[in-house]
Amino acid sequence: MPGIKPSTSLTSLMMDKQDVTLTSLTQYARRPGATQSSLLQSARPAAPEEKRNVESEEKKPLPAPKKKRKKKHGITANLSGTRYEVIRLVCEKCKFDICKEDDPNSYLIWSDSFVSADRITELKPFQRINHFPGMVEVTRKDCLARNMMKIQRHHADEFNFVPKTWILPADFSLLQNYAKDLKAKKKYKTFIVKPANGAQGHGIQLFRNAEKIPPTEHFIVQEYIDKPLLLEGYKFDLRIYVLVTSCDPLRIFIFNDGLVRMSTDKYVNPADPNLSNLYMHLTNYSVNKHNEFYQKGDSVETGSKRSIRFLNEYLRKNDFDTVLLWRRIYDMVVKTLLVAQPHLLHAYRMCRPGAPAGSDSVCFEVLGFDVLIDRKLNPWLLEINRSPSFGTDEKIDFDIKSALIEDTVRLLNIKLSDKRRNYFAQKAEAQKRLFRTTKRNEADMTEIEKKKQSIEKRKEELREQLARVRKATAREDFENRNAGRFRRIFPSEDKLKQQKYVNIMSSIFGIVMSGRAPAMQKEIQKVYNNQFREEDILDLIAECEADEKDGKLGSKAARGPKPLSSMPISLPSPPTEDEFDEEEEEEDAEYTSPPGSPGLNRRESRPPSTKSRPGSLRPDSRVSNDASSLCNSRPNSGVSSMRSRPTSNMSAVNSRSKSLSRLHGKQSIMQRSLIDDNFLITVVKEREDELTKKTLQALNDMRIKFPGKTDQEAELILDTLHENWKFHKPRIASYWLVKLDSIKRRKVIDIVRSNVRAVLQRIWRISDVDNLRLYRIFTRVFNRLLWSHGQGLWNCFSTTSQNGSWETIFSKSSENICENEFNCCRRIVQLCRDCLLIVYQFAAEAKSSSQQNSETTELSSAGTLSSRDKASSALMAPHNTQTLSQRYSKLYPRADTTAT
Ligand code: ADP
Repeated sequence: MPGIKPSTSLTSLMMDKQDVTLTSLTQYARRPGATQSSLLQSARPAAPEEKRNVESEEKKPLPAPKKKRKKKHGITANLSGTRYEVIRLVCEKCKFDICKEDDPNSYLIWSDSFVSADRITELKPFQRINHFPGMVEVTRKDCLARNMMKIQRHHADEFNFVPKTWILPADFSLLQNYAKDLKAKKKYKTFIVKPANGAQGHGIQLFRNAEKIPPTEHFIVQEYIDKPLLLEGYKFDLRIYVLVTSCDPLRIFIFNDGLVRMSTDKYVNPADPNLSNLYMHLTNYSVNKHNEFYQKGDSVETGSKRSIRFLNEYLRKNDFDTVLLWRRIYDMVVKTLLVAQPHLLHAYRMCRPGAPAGSDSVCFEVLGFDVLIDRKLNPWLLEINRSPSFGTDEKIDFDIKSALIEDTVRLLNIKLSDKRRNYFAQKAEAQKRLFRTTKRNEADMTEIEKKKQSIEKRKEELREQLARVRKATAREDFENRNAGRFRRIFPSEDKLKQQKYVNIMSSIFGIVMSGRAPAMQKEIQKVYNNQFREEDILDLIAECEADEKDGKLGSKAARGPKPLSSMPISLPSPPTEDEFDEEEEEEDAEYTSPPGSPGLNRRESRPPSTKSRPGSLRPDSRVSNDASSLCNSRPNSGVSSMRSRPTSNMSAVNSRSKSLSRLHGKQSIMQRSLIDDNFLITVVKEREDELTKKTLQALNDMRIKFPGKTDQEAELILDTLHENWKFHKPRIASYWLVKLDSIKRRKVIDIVRSNVRAVLQRIWRISDVDNLRLYRIFTRVFNRLLWSHGQGLWNCFSTTSQNGSWETIFSKSSENICENEFNCCRRIVQLCRDCLLIVYQFAAEAKSSSQQNSETTELSSAGTLSSRDKASSALMAPHNTQTLSQRYSKLYPRADTTAT
């Protein structure tokens, strides 16, 4: 390879390009179920036989003119954020409609760069975007090092696949001490210094003597792995592609091919004369392509870039244990993502409040793991790229990356019907809210009613669990059939291994989340150690029903949740998903895409149980199919919850044949649906407007409390601060942005957030406000205020932008926010600002009177909210007093007294 100058003539480059396209086309054609035949069919002229048929048909009386079909809109892909041609090619192959502009409503959004939390919050449940919030915790070199070190302290043996790392400048003295120790022991090691946020080998240097490393900021130092496995005498590293399809729950796949990137000067052990030879020590393509010895691959066995498949073959031929190597690599990948998991989950849930656990993830991510292998066949994790290059300079790039993207898109299981399902989910959720009955006071209930309620509750929980289990089975079934060249590595099929991972995950949550860990750990065991099988849950539901039937309630109680009395009897149900699918199927008749392409996967993806219960009058099958029935805001969940029957009735319900449902006729279904829709939408809208208005009123009545002072006095304090703003501004800025750390800043905003939640619970009469559209809007505002560790709230004090900086989250958004909703947001921002000022003023006063012992007592109510509305004040007071009295004095350092 070296010594042979690569051909760089223009013709050879053009040949290369041609080659690439031709291969890609032939490759597509070779794939099972390629559309070639369908394409040919539409293109070729009619055969004589066919022509005869056409003629004879022409003589027949003309059939009634067919209704012109509505123009079909396909699955849309917004690729405006990516520069990679191969992504466009794959999307085209999958028959996606590629948007001309940056369409925020596309089914698929692919971006090469960072995606903000706001953008993820705004996504509708049917959309998919190629990044997770929080992934930066393992994709920035310094974050990865910090998080790994934290876990290594508790699990040194399990996490020994990252080279020893120091983050500069903080760890500079630790590094120097380590170097001194080595010197004393007469041991010599090499260190590699890299920019914390660098890429492509930029700014990397090697040092033999750690004392010479400057304490440069934003750099990391690593022990150099000086005995790498060599390929034909060259150092190499692996680019392994890992796909995360969801973090709630976590699902990880590894692609069965990738790149082997070789250095271009033969490797010798690091020594002073060769330290600066980056063509020997670095394996980046971006570095080595500049070496005259860089060789473009003419075949899979030559060139400076090769495939992992080739490497496996090479290792096998040379008697290396490739099975062991890959077992170690899988293990490393899973454990690394377990380290990321608390951050991923937290960030995802912040962005998607109310998304039912186990629902389809709007985020996915293709990560590029850079892995070095040493001579003992140990993999070393060098870094993770959150936007691995999809450049296709060489044929090998195109072959691997196009297959990778295609299999990724297929696994995402994007379906045209997802949008409508989402529409129904929202409608059902709204319907559920609209017809929600007020909970009766337990004291007013008879014993029988109490028992009945508890059985109902238990049944509901079981149904949820059943839906979750069924959803998980269906998902797994789909993955097994559509993984292509991916292999799922988490959850693992190996039960022992899975148990080990679950324990590690649980422990990591304990390390990272401390106080909040127990609840999460319980959830982890429940989600990842699925002890219950579908049959077990069905048995338990049957038991509940038997209890009811046996007359344990004293009377023949109607089975299943009763239809709500407030529900208009004439309100027909909206068409079920299947009816929609049928409609869609018809419309889809001309819309063909290759088998396995995302548009057509939906049928395959159905679990067998779905198919056995066709028809529209199947509340129970709906409950089970949609993971989400009842509490989950998935299609028709509200309807099923109101109309669902107990499981024992399932067979009766199921026995109604599909033809029965078809009796109604699609037309009538559609008409009925339209009428219902309009009626329902109007009623729900009116009701929601009314409740939003009430919420606004309650928010306007809220006041931030200053301990020991009346509301009027607190208002006076705020006025004084505003009047002397010039004087206070730098002090408040330094208090907020410097003195308080980000956790405390979050807690100030949380004072308002928790009270807003309480108001919503009271006015909307629900405990789980996460599902409320209004709360989701508020969450976006809170996220914006927390932007850049609280900088967002500080920006709201800016007079130049007229406090409008937060408003851009709505002006740029496609979501329509009505005036009252917007005014609620405005009021929330105002309350957060007031809360900051009161906390600041209180801390300042506390400092000036630090001699007073009674401080803690007074602090107990600082920063809480009061309300002119007596009911809401009664609701909020205990909540605030309790939490704040315990933590307030510890939380907020005293402000500079000179400020007042
Ligand atoms: P970048 O993001 O700039 O590519 P990497 O961490 O991937 O930085 O390092 C670039 C190259 O340097 C790697 O591909 C590898 O060849 C080499 N390298 C990095 N860290 C080490 C290490 N600890 N030991 C040996 N080689 C390393």
